[in-house]
This record gives sequence, C-alpha cells and structure tokens, in this order.
Amino acid sequence: MAWDFSTEPQFQEQLDWVDEFCRTEVEPLDLVFPGAAYSRDRKARALADPLKQQVKDRGLWALFLDRELGGPGFGQLKLALLNEILGRYRTAPVIFGTAAPDTGNMEMLAAYGTDAQKGRWLYPLMNQEIFSAYSMTEPQGGSDPSLFQTHATRDGDDWVINGEKWFTSAGARADIIFVMCTNGMFVVPRDTPGVEIMEYPAIHNHIRYNGVRVPIDHLLGPEDGARVLAQRRLGGGRIHHAMRTVAQVKLAFDIMCERVLSRESHGKVIAHHQMVQEAIADSYAEINMLRLLVLWTAWTIDNSSTREARTQIAACKYTCAKVLREVSYRALHIMGSLGTTDLTPLQAMWASAPTMAIADGVDEVHKVTVARNVLKGYQPHPGLWPTEYLPAKREQARKKYASLLAADADLAAWADAAARATSRRY
Ligand SMILES: Cc1cc2nc3c(=O)[nH]c(=O)nc-3n(C[C@H](O)[C@H](O)[C@H](O)COP(=O)(O)OP(=O)(O)OC[C@H]3O[C@@H](n4cnc5c(N)ncnc54)[C@H](O)[C@@H]3O)c2cc1C
Repeated sequence: MAWDFSTEPQFQEQLDWVDEFCRTEVEPLDLVFPGAAYSRDRKARALADPLKQQVKDRGLWALFLDRELGGPGFGQLKLALLNEILGRYRTAPVIFGTAAPDTGNMEMLAAYGTDAQKGRWLYPLMNQEIFSAYSMTEPQGGSDPSLFQTHATRDGDDWVINGEKWFTSAGARADIIFVMCTNGMFVVPRDTPGVEIMEYPAIHNHIRYNGVRVPIDHLLGPEDGARVLAQRRLGGGRIHHAMRTVAQVKLAFDIMCERVLSRESHGKVIAHHQMVQEAIADSYAEINMLRLLVLWTAWTIDNSSTREARTQIAACKYTCAKVLREVSYRALHIMGSLGTTDLTPLQAMWASAPTMAIADGVDEVHKVTVARNVLKGYQPHPGLWPTEYLPAKREQARKKYASLLAADADLAAWADAAARATSRRY
C-alpha cells in the first residue's frame, strides 16, 4: 500500500473498530481477569475465546504473517498502524494472535518448516492451541553468538542436545522450545526428558539441556543454519517491539497532557509552567520522530525485505528504547507522587525502558550495525583536506569562472574581497 501520511479509508474503518474493541472488550477483560488470555488455566483462558473469534471474523487474526506464510498478508505498514493501538493494552497482542515470542517462532516455522513441521507446530501455534519459547541467550554471553556453546550431536535417527540457556521467556510455560544450537535450530517439546528448568528467574527461564534427544525431523531449516533463522526471527520481532512502543509512548503522552490541564500549582494550571510545556513539546516531537521512523521502516520492508531494511530496523530498536525512557519518565514526573505508584500504567512503563534497550539485542550492538552499514556509503577523502574544505572548493569553482575573472579586473577584485571577508568571519 502506498502511504502518503493518510490511511486508506477501508483500513481506517478496521483501525477504528480495533480501537473501540480494545477499549470496550480487551481492556475490561484485562482489568478484571489480568493475564487470563494467556493463562494455563483453561477456564480463565476460555474467557478470551469469544474476543479472539471476533478478531478472526474481522479477518485481523495473526496478521503479521504474509499471505504465502498463511496469514492475511497485510504487510508491515498496516501491522504498524494496528500495533499503534494494540501496544496500549497488555493482552491485545494475544487476542489478535500477534504475541511474542510466538510471532517470531511462527515466522521461522512458516519460512523454513517442512509441510509436516508446519502441520505439527505452525497451525497449532497460530490457533494458540500450543505456546512456544525461544532459547538463544546463554549464561556466559548474549550479545555475541560466537560465545554460544549449546550443541546437537547426531545419533542414529536422533539429535542429542547438550547445553545451557538463560532468559528463555516463558520457557516454563511453553509446549515447544526453539533451541538455537551451534549447528542448527531445533524444536524441542518442553516435556522431553533432560529439559531441566531452574527455579530462577521466574519468567525468563534458565534452562539446562542435558542430553535431550529429539527425532531428526526436529531440526528446523538447514543444518548449521541457526544464525540465518535467528536473523529472520529477530528482524521482524524488533520492528514489532518498536510499533508497540509507539502505542506505549502515546499512552504516556495522553496521561501527561490530561494531567497538566487538570491541576494547579503556584497560581496557575500546571500546563502554563514553561518547563512543563517543554516536556510536552519535546515528547510530542520525539514520539512523532519515532513513529515516522517506524512507519518508514515498515514501508521499506513491504517494498523490499527485512534484510534490505536491517539498518532502519536497528535504528528503530534503540530509538524506541530511548523515546520510551524519555517520555515515560517525563509523564511519570509530571504526575508527581501518583506517578511513582502502580496506580497508573506509568511506573511499569518506565521500568520497562531498560528492558527495551536489552531484549532482542542491546542498544550498543544495534548502534554498531547502523554505523557500520551507514559508513559503507562513504569513502575517506583523498589527501589532507575534507571534501568540504572551502578554500579548495573555491579554487575549483574559480576555474569555472576563469574567463570572466580574466576579462573583468573589477569583478575579480570584488570576488577576492568578498572571499576574504567571508573567511574572516570565523
Ligand atoms: C525481557 C527480556 C526478555 C528476553 N527474552 C529472551 C528470550 O526469550 N530468549 C533468549 O534467548 N533471550 C532472551 N533475552 C535475552 C537477551 O536477548 C539478552 O539479554 C541480550 O542479547 C543481551 O545479552 P546479555 O544479557 O548476555 O548481555 P551481554 O551480552 O553480557 O551485554 C551486557 C552489556 O555489555 C555491553 N556490550 C555487549 N556487547 C557490546 C558491544 N558489541 N559493544 C558495546 N557494548 C557491548 C552493553 O552495555 C550490554 O548491555 C531477553 C532479555 C530480556 C531483558
């Protein structure tokens, strides 16, 4: 879809429906039954089923997946506009079939799975009949994959996995775990003998794989292809984080703007204090800069590929962490004491900002990617002076006017004087 800073009316109708649906159905469910939508308790989870059905009936289920991968094929730009709404509500991604880490795992399965693997895992994941986790980070190092040691050894018709993983989100609740080994990506049912889940951390699990035996068809994609699959998985995941962050910072902004108009201090409404106005103005600009960066990146993916857009995706990842940190802090601060409690979403949002700068790759690594890729478009200048060294440029330019300068002594004198006056200014 072409994007000219407006949304096509048909899709805007869908977005309006999503907005209303999230406010009137998803948020009340989350407030009264927090976490029910992804609970292991069948009765609690069933409360979300009618809502999921409504999403399916609107054709909005699992829309991160391209058509050839089994989804509706809306593309990343439409997904970004949708996530600007969903990201405001904790449970909405589950209700819409777009919750991490299942989304990234489904993308890998859709892109690299055999028909049998898709039948066994992809379709049940899409229908949320099963849940998954992703086991990549190891205790001795997360940012540098060359430090990973978990390895699979072929033994007859089986692979035997040995190693240790750290921070596998929802690993203890997952039905299947995607385990990144030094020699391939494997799908491991969580209840396989040898999968040992440590007591801590509670949510992002520390898991030992002690001689875990899986059949050969549990290798996903080619042998030794784990890094390629991981890139595929993380590329999409990172832009989805950024899309949901736009929703979060817009929520913080709404809370902040309402509050500054509602309270007084030192004889005037808080909104009339200039430093408060600065907080509003800076937040407004930063949110829109992030939003446009995310939408431009989504558009680029739609018009080329995740790979082509990798510099932009990396920029989105650390920029969303920064904007989340700045805007949620300002909003929390402007709420005063109330902001420091858990009686508004702000304290949790502010606390999540450091996480955003670490999960799916630390800021530094993404900044290195951006700098490295951007610098590929540049060359060192020949000789001592930069290309923009003005005396050298002026000398070159004078050649273009050589005949005029030679023919008119007055004009030549004027040019010399003007050049001297310009350079004396600094
Ligand atoms: C909420 C959350 C959920 C997560 N979920 C999962 C999951 O489901 N599965 C999974 O496998 N992992 C998961 N992770 C782990 C995450 O991917 C790692 O934390 C991340 O890759 C960083 O690895 P590390 O924690 O080992 O930090 P390290 O790699 O030890 O880095 C620590 C610090 O060292 C510095 N540093 C590192 N490398 C560089 C560099 N190249 N240049 C400059 N400075 C550098 C940075 O300051 C960095 O913050 C999750 C993390 C979080 C916070």
